[in-house]
Amino acid sequence: MTDNQTKSRRQFLAGSAAAAGAALFTEPVAAQESGYVIDVPEVISMEIDGTSDRFPVRRVFALGRNYRAHAIESGDDPDVTPPFFFIKPRDAVVEARNGHPYPQMTKEFRYEAEMIVALKSGGKDIDPDDALDHIYAYGVGLDMTREDLQHVAQELSRPWAISKSFDNSAPCGPLYPVETNGHAVDGRIWLSVNDEIKQDSDLSLQRWSVSEGISILSQYYELTAGDIIMTGTPAGIGLVNKGDVIKTGIEGVGEIEVVIT
Ligand code: MN
Repeated sequence: MTDNQTKSRRQFLAGSAAAAGAALFTEPVAAQESGYVIDVPEVISMEIDGTSDRFPVRRVFALGRNYRAHAIESGDDPDVTPPFFFIKPRDAVVEARNGHPYPQMTKEFRYEAEMIVALKSGGKDIDPDDALDHIYAYGVGLDMTREDLQHVAQELSRPWAISKSFDNSAPCGPLYPVETNGHAVDGRIWLSVNDEIKQDSDLSLQRWSVSEGISILSQYYELTAGDIIMTGTPAGIGLVNKGDVIKTGIEGVGEIEVVIT
C-alpha cells in the first residue's frame, strides 16, 4: 500500500467511524486526524485462516474450571461447584507466533490450553439450541496465568484480575471459520512443553458445552459480534520458564507454537 493509499484509507476510516460513533480503525490513527483528543486505540484483531481479512475483537470472556479433572486439580468439587466466567482485556489477545514475553510481577507463569470461540452475532438469553448459529469461527489459544498472584488473590478472597487479565495473556492462533471448517464439538485438545505432553483431553469432556456456555454467558451479558470466549482448560496445567516452547492443538481446529522469551 502506498503512503497516499494509506492516508486515504485512514481518512475514510476516520470519517466513517466518526459518523457511526464507533472506533473502527484498523491501524493507529493520530488524534489530529480523527477528532478524538488522544490517538485512537488500535483495534485488536485476529488472523483468519485462508484470508487476509481479520476478525475484530470486542471482549474476551473466559470459562474457568470447565473440565472436571481440571476442576478437581484446582481444588473444586465439580459435583458442587459449577464452572464460572472471567474476562480478559481485548488487547490480551496477541499472535502466538510472535513469541511470548515472560511477564513482570510473577515467578510462577502458567499455561492453559483452550479452545477459542469467536462470535459473529449475539443477544441476551440465547437458547442453547440456537447458540452455535452465533459462532463465526474456532481457534486455539492459551490462557496464560500469573499463578503466584492468583494464589494470593484466592487466599485473600480478592478479585484475581491481575493474575489472569494482564498484557499479552492470551496468545492465539488463527481462527478457522465455521463456513469452511465446521463446528468443533469433540476432538483431542492437547499441550506440550518442550515436546513433553502435559495436557491431553477431549472437547467432549467440557462440563459446559460451547452451546451451554454461550447460553449461560448470555444470561449475564448481552453478547455481540466480536466477542470471543475461551472455553476452559483440561487437567495438567503447569509452569513455564524463559526459553520453553509450548505447543498446543485441537483436533480438527489447528495447532500453535508459543516460545516464552
Ligand atoms: Mn483458563
